[in-house]
Parts: sequence; structure tokens; C-alpha cells
Amino acid sequence: MSKPVVTRFAPSPTGYLHIGGARTALFNWLYARGRGGKFLLRIEDTDRERSTPKATAAILQGMSWLGLDHDGEVISQFERADRHAEVAKQLLAEGKAYKCFATQDEIAAFREEAKAAGKSTLYRSPWRDAAEADHPDAPYVIRIKAPQDGVTVIKDEVQGDVTIRNDQLDDMILLRSDGTPVYMLAVVVDDYDMGVTHVIRGDDHLNNAARQMMIYQAMGWDIPVWAHIPLIHGPDGKKLSKRHGALGAQEYQAMGYPAAGMRNYLARLGWSHGDDEFFTDAQAREWFDLDGIGKSPARFDTKKLENLCGQHIAISEDAALRNEIQAYLAAAGKPQLSDVQSNDIERGMYCLKDRAKTFPELLEKAHFLLTSRPVEQDEKAAKALANVSDGILKELTPQLQNASWTRDDLEALLNAFAEAQGTKFGKLAAPLRAVLAGRAVTPSVFDMMLILGQDETLARLSDATG
Ligand code: GLU
Repeated sequence: MSKPVVTRFAPSPTGYLHIGGARTALFNWLYARGRGGKFLLRIEDTDRERSTPKATAAILQGMSWLGLDHDGEVISQFERADRHAEVAKQLLAEGKAYKCFATQDEIAAFREEAKAAGKSTLYRSPWRDAAEADHPDAPYVIRIKAPQDGVTVIKDEVQGDVTIRNDQLDDMILLRSDGTPVYMLAVVVDDYDMGVTHVIRGDDHLNNAARQMMIYQAMGWDIPVWAHIPLIHGPDGKKLSKRHGALGAQEYQAMGYPAAGMRNYLARLGWSHGDDEFFTDAQAREWFDLDGIGKSPARFDTKKLENLCGQHIAISEDAALRNEIQAYLAAAGKPQLSDVQSNDIERGMYCLKDRAKTFPELLEKAHFLLTSRPVEQDEKAAKALANVSDGILKELTPQLQNASWTRDDLEALLNAFAEAQGTKFGKLAAPLRAVLAGRAVTPSVFDMMLILGQDETLARLSDATG
């Protein structure tokens, strides 16, 4: 039986969850969740300046919005420093690492000389093979004994075999002279101790993999499956940056994109399953694999994101949308809807969620429900209202007073009414939208009438006809 899958997301706190990080987290989450595995979260918080509780909270908040739940406690890399040091000392005891007493000046001098002689400036410590008896009583770092010839091959599920010549790798420092572990050691020890079987991360870490591999090999540990994914690019093909727009996952929440649409879009950013663009979470979990990850960087495309978001809004449960809208409003720093407004929106959701790509669009469609009498007209609506005579709307009033309030009856009534006026219902629709919503773009007149109810419809009509 193969080992149960364990993946992890290992962000360094930066103050927000980067969209690229969110995608990395999603890939790891999908891979684990689709295989009954575990998805762990480790905060790489060794940079004490940046690693504030607020910065960690921002990552957790972004993941929680995207529904990327992790297993177990959040692991702090910083808190594991003693364990990292212990591994460096074990390698030292086993002769796979050594104490290096070289000073900064000596290393600089070595490099100068090598450069002048036209040789590699990779530092070669004279302490690598020094006898213990020759060790001075001075500060030292612990360096790994890197292989000096041959090659290191990283077997990567996305990049294929990546070969690095060992003479290009130096004896990397594991433990600094103040006893603190270096990042590269921390990552390997943490991944090993956490039982991580698959490391899916940005390909900016591919070079690190060669150095990390040395540590795995020196410790005799199994190397995890590596999948280094190309970074996300902007529409112009350059690495995604602020110039291209929002970078933080939470900014997308505040712009009103639904989490399900965002997940679908992020999954498609660099991964594909045949021609499938739109899929559910369940399908993504079932389909996600490392084979489907592309080798070239995906380009961020807001139109595609919006398109998918619209499809997800359309298939979402009404009650779930109601909650997501409140969460969106909070994220955007806007006032919450009252219970009455929320109830009204849920009642009207069946038509509001149709063709709304974002929550602001959905709320714009819900304007007729959120506004109160007398309905204020925007410019276009006022124009449409001015184009119809008061008389026509006044004539309509008694008919609506006697109408039975069902879609079929209202449709029949309004069509017959239009015909009697020598026109088509289409011509009446714009002024009626204006009467009911004060807007030119709204859900259908019938939907609005049904959702508002007979009394409110008649009241708005009377407001408009004076
Ligand atoms: N902390 C690293 C980052 O935020 C990720 C390290 C890793 O995944 O191994 O880029």
C-alpha cells in the first residue's frame, strides 16, 4: 500500500495572501483532499520583523475565504528552531557536516583571489577536512559536506528531470555562528517531520530543491515528490505584479468574486483537465493531478475569472449566496444588509443570481428590492419614464388592482394591455422598470412584480403617476 498523501502550504508572512500563494495552497489542498490525504499549514515565520500575528491572520483569513481548510495545528517554523539545530548537530556528529571557522574577511579574500585567477568563486572551506585537534576556540558555522563531483538530479513532476552539476553547489551553511538554522535546513526538517509526501510549490524554489536534496540525502531521508509550478504571469506575459491589478486574495473577496468561482479559476491557472473550464469543487478534487500542470506560466485573465464566477453564482444555493454576500460586504467595508433586506434578496435570488458575475452586480440587480419608496430614478430610467404618457400607466393601475398575482396572469394581462394600447409589451417594459426600480437595467418586470408583491407594485406605480 502506498503512503497516505500529505501536502502542505508553507507561506512566509507578507501581510496578505498573494494570489500565487493562494493557487499553491489550492493545488496542495486539491491534491490531498482528492486522495483522502492531509493538507498541512506551516508558517515560515523565521523573519521576525515580518512575522506578526496580523500577517499570519491575513493568510488564515484568505485561506478561510477560499475554503482551504488545513489539518491539525498551524505549525510555526520559528518555534522549531531547536529541532533544526539538532539535525545540523547530528550531521556534524556523523561527519556529514563540519565546523567552519572562516571569517567573513577570509571568505571575501578567497573570492577575490578566485576571481583574479579566473576560477569559480564558490567558497571552498579549508575546514572541510581539518582535524578536530586543529580547531580553534572561535565562533564557527556548521556547513554540510556537499558532493563535489557528479550531478544532482531533481525529479520534478512538472519540470521533468532537472540536472545540476555538483561542482556548482557549495558547502551550504546549516547553522549560523549564533546557532540559528538557515532557511533551507528548516524547510527540509519541517517537511520531513511533518511527513510531507508531496511538495507542490512555485518554481522559484526549484534551485532550492537541489540544496535541500543534499540534506535529505545526508540524513538518509526519503525525498518527497516535487512539483514546481510555473509562476503566474500578467496578461502581458510578465511576472504578475501590482501593475497588473490586485495581488491579494482578500482583495478579490472585497471586489465581490465568489470563493467557488475563484477556486475554479485558480485551479485552471496552470492546470487543466481536457477542455474543462467550468467545474465544481467535487470535480476539481476528483480530477486534480500533477500531470495536468503545465510547464509554461499561466496568464491571469480577469474576463475568464468573471465568466467562471458568473457560472458559479448561478448554480449556488440561495441561502449560501445570502451568507456570502454579507461576508463580501464586510470584506469591502460596506454596511451589512438588514435581516429584511437579506430575506428579500434570498426570496428574489432565483432571478438575481442569473447572469451576475460578481456580488456588486448581483446587488445592482437587487436594487429594486433594496431601495424604498419613493423610488429615485437614475438618468436612463427617468428618460424611459418621460417617454410614456402618465395616462397609460394610470390606465394600467386598475387592471393590476384586479389581477391575480401569478406570472402567467401578469404576463397575459400586460401583453393584452400593450396590445389594446396599440403597442407591444417591450415598449412598456422600460417605463415599468423605471417605475419599479428606478433603473434601466433590472431583472424582468414580471420577476420584480412577483417579488415586490401587488401592494408594493401598485404603490410604486401610484408614486410615479402622481
Ligand atoms: N515560504 C516559501 C514561500 O513563501 C515557500 C517554501 C516552500 O514551499 O518550500 O515562498
